[in-house]
Amino acid sequence: MSLKVAIIGGGLGGLVAALFLSARGIAAEVYEQGSSLNEVGAGIVVPPNMVRLLRKLGLADGLGEFAIKVEYAWEFRRWQDGRILATTPMGEACERLYGAPCFVAHRADLLAMYHRALPDGVVHLDRRCVGLRQNEAGVALDFVSAEGGHTRVEADVAIGADGIHSIMRGAVTEEQSPRFSGLCAFRCLVPAERVPELALRPTHTLWLGPGRHFVHYPISAGRLVNVVAVAPAGEWRSESWTADGDIADLLAEFATWDPRLKQLIVSASETKRWAMFDRPPLDRWTAGRVALLGDAAHAMLPFLAQGAAQCAEDADVLADCLASATASTAKAALMLYEEQRRPRANQILLGSRGREIRNHLPDGPEQEKRDAELAASDPLREVAWLYGEGVERSRA
Ligand SMILES: Cc1cc2nc3c(=O)[nH]c(=O)nc-3n(C[C@H](O)[C@H](O)[C@H](O)COP(=O)(O)OP(=O)(O)OC[C@H]3O[C@@H](n4cnc5c(N)ncnc54)[C@H](O)[C@@H]3O)c2cc1C
Repeated sequence: MSLKVAIIGGGLGGLVAALFLSARGIAAEVYEQGSSLNEVGAGIVVPPNMVRLLRKLGLADGLGEFAIKVEYAWEFRRWQDGRILATTPMGEACERLYGAPCFVAHRADLLAMYHRALPDGVVHLDRRCVGLRQNEAGVALDFVSAEGGHTRVEADVAIGADGIHSIMRGAVTEEQSPRFSGLCAFRCLVPAERVPELALRPTHTLWLGPGRHFVHYPISAGRLVNVVAVAPAGEWRSESWTADGDIADLLAEFATWDPRLKQLIVSASETKRWAMFDRPPLDRWTAGRVALLGDAAHAMLPFLAQGAAQCAEDADVLADCLASATASTAKAALMLYEEQRRPRANQILLGSRGREIRNHLPDGPEQEKRDAELAASDPLREVAWLYGEGVERSRA
């Protein structure tokens, strides 16, 4: 009999887990606390390592309907005048090296594509998980609805895909304090007709400057430009992705930068702002019949643009490990999943952290050294550890 898997959380992690498990004939159901499936209004890079996995699910072609195929990525520019420090041609070279292109998309479109691909009845809304018990026979999960209704679900395995503030993490490992990066991110979606020409190119562009960096790329079939501007947080401590910021504050942070960025900022009618925290790498993802996936397992800063891709890698390996498991061997299968995935996800988590210093060097000898290194680099090959074939299973 097929394993019964309960997935807590209906974000990019939970849904891609349901897709991979269903594709392996495993009965997986998703329990999401929200009354609808919602993603924040923001863009996301869908890198080649993720596109290859979407291809396995038969979803890569669907990306073309709303996402933009990136021609250049990691295009680093100097803050003052936009001089290109390094750029990575993606197009054909990327497909040749990594077997897939790279896209940029609106997060909500990606989530909607996942949802459409799942059979009816797999996603249960308005189910907030409030408790979990497990024994040799299985897992029992308790849910409440917004109106206070209570339901219980029994499963062979429970997957915590409940994001950075995961409650499932508490069932697996000791909670550790979030680490504050000292930075905040302003995030805007700007209608394409208002932005400077430069921002319309199908390019993942990053401007580097003292203490700050500024990212933009077009999404939604070119109708919108996604902006993420990272700056010192000051007193800002809200970790919510939906808290409103102030365009004037964003403008002040980048007041002395290239005028094209100022034009891009003033074209936005609103901005979100959140303080950037991550979590220390976890030393375990699994306890008995419960395992973590996605941000619950490896909440990282978005500086390598890999969070959602790591969700897909988790899901693919999890499904492989559970494919031949039975209710009595499920625990060992989850351990195997953790063994194959935790080293790589933690490496990317720590790699993302490293970028917060390198991206923000003040002008001077260290910045000049970094820029010279960028100019001399072969960027497409340097991301082999992120994008290469077979990297999703750790060789550690
Ligand atoms: C600005 C920004 C840019 C990024 N850019 C990229 C990028 O370019 N490429 C990339 O690959 N990644 C990127 N990421 C990271 C990526 O978005 C995240 O890693 C990914 O969304 C995590 O998905 P998740 O499903 O694990 O968590 P979440 O998206 O947080 O979803 C968790 C879900 O669980 C639900 N939930 C929580 N608690 C409960 C409960 N008790 N019961 C039931 N449901 C519950 C929540 O409502 C939510 O729907 C970016 C992140 C940010 C913030």
